[in-house]
Amino acid sequence: MQRILISGASISGPALAWWLLRRGFTPTLIERAPGPRPGGHAIDVRGAALDVLRAMGLLEAAQDNRTRMKGVSMLDTEGKEVWRSDEMTISGGSFGKEAIEILRDDLSNILVSDLPAGTEIIYGDSITALHEENDGVLVSFGQGPARKFDLVVGADGLGSNTRKLAFNTGGEVYRPFGVALAPFSTPNMLGLEDWQVSYNNGKDSCMIYTARDNKELRACFGFAARLEDVPADRAGQMALVRKNCGHMGWIVPQLLDAMDEAPDFYLGPMAQVRMSHWTKGRVALVGDAGYCPSPYTGQGTSLALVGAYVLAWELAQSPGDHAAAFGRYEDKMRPYVEKNQALADLTRDERFSDPEYYRTVIEPAMDVAKDAIELEGLRQ
Ligand SMILES: Cc1cc2nc3c(=O)[nH]c(=O)nc-3n(C[C@H](O)[C@H](O)[C@H](O)COP(=O)(O)OP(=O)(O)OC[C@H]3O[C@@H](n4cnc5c(N)ncnc54)[C@H](O)[C@@H]3O)c2cc1C
Repeated sequence: MQRILISGASISGPALAWWLLRRGFTPTLIERAPGPRPGGHAIDVRGAALDVLRAMGLLEAAQDNRTRMKGVSMLDTEGKEVWRSDEMTISGGSFGKEAIEILRDDLSNILVSDLPAGTEIIYGDSITALHEENDGVLVSFGQGPARKFDLVVGADGLGSNTRKLAFNTGGEVYRPFGVALAPFSTPNMLGLEDWQVSYNNGKDSCMIYTARDNKELRACFGFAARLEDVPADRAGQMALVRKNCGHMGWIVPQLLDAMDEAPDFYLGPMAQVRMSHWTKGRVALVGDAGYCPSPYTGQGTSLALVGAYVLAWELAQSPGDHAAAFGRYEDKMRPYVEKNQALADLTRDERFSDPEYYRTVIEPAMDVAKDAIELEGLRQ
């Protein structure tokens, strides 16, 4: 029974723990946040990732919690509607495609809640050092005593601490896009019903949409920011949003005031993680930590779910030989990751909001990328 430490309990972490338990391993999750982390934009699950959720028996729960927007309005700089569609939203794409759009925290809660009672989840702590030995990895923590594990997996997102400690990498793994997104929730002060509104002044943007039976709005500011200019602390991040978006019209001043009170403010730079290897010794990376495709692709959550599945499956195929399992994990995931990361170059095109470009270029590429992997053993 191998003991596997997983750093990060958002999407890829709990999905990996779920599949490792199913395959006879003993996972421990460690999450830096003091409890289940709220917040995040609506994210999408498509293609092979839907098959993973289905095999976990969680497809229905995800569908029940999906966003239920009926369309989108685009506003001009004065806040007047210039275009509307009841066939798509900006965040989720065209209706009628087999995909689930769901708030990140709702999907995370579904995954964590489905872990069996007794699964070890440590909140409010983080790995501080990894010392690899012949028979395992000695792990030091910020709070708890050092412990030994057979393997360690970094599922700790774009800024992965595990990646820095194990691979000794820094900023060179990023492909930054010079934009940051800041999503947060507020009460539905506009009385919007099942609708998304996108306000864009050509440079900065603000999108809002209804969530949780129209009780909440999720707002998301997007603005130019260099990776190195994004502060680590919440107050500094909020100040950066105000500095960049404070000049915007429409209801932005109200939204900025609401941001100060938001329980779940988050600021994420738009960047990809590109690495030649996602495993080293007894450490592996999964999800955004290893191969974040960026929100431009809308595929980060699908890669995370599929990566978790493939890693657990391969470890189970050669439980005594993690190196062989890691090699197969990398080989299987690489083409799928590359196809999905490449979507960012299409969606960053200035024609993105042209419905014809979306239908003839983006959607066909997405249809190929979302299924560009064969998953073995899904029914076992
Ligand atoms: C609060 C939040 C909001 C997000 N909002 C958006 C969004 O608006 N749009 C979008 O496209 N994507 C967003 N994402 C990213 C999205 O969830 C991922 O792209 C995708 O789902 C892959 O998930 P992941 O589990 O690999 O990484 P993530 O979802 O990034 O999860 C990483 C987890 O690791 C934890 N963690 C980080 N450092 C440490 C550490 N040192 N020790 C232990 N735990 C650590 C984090 O708290 C987090 O729970 C958000 C992520 C988070 C955490």
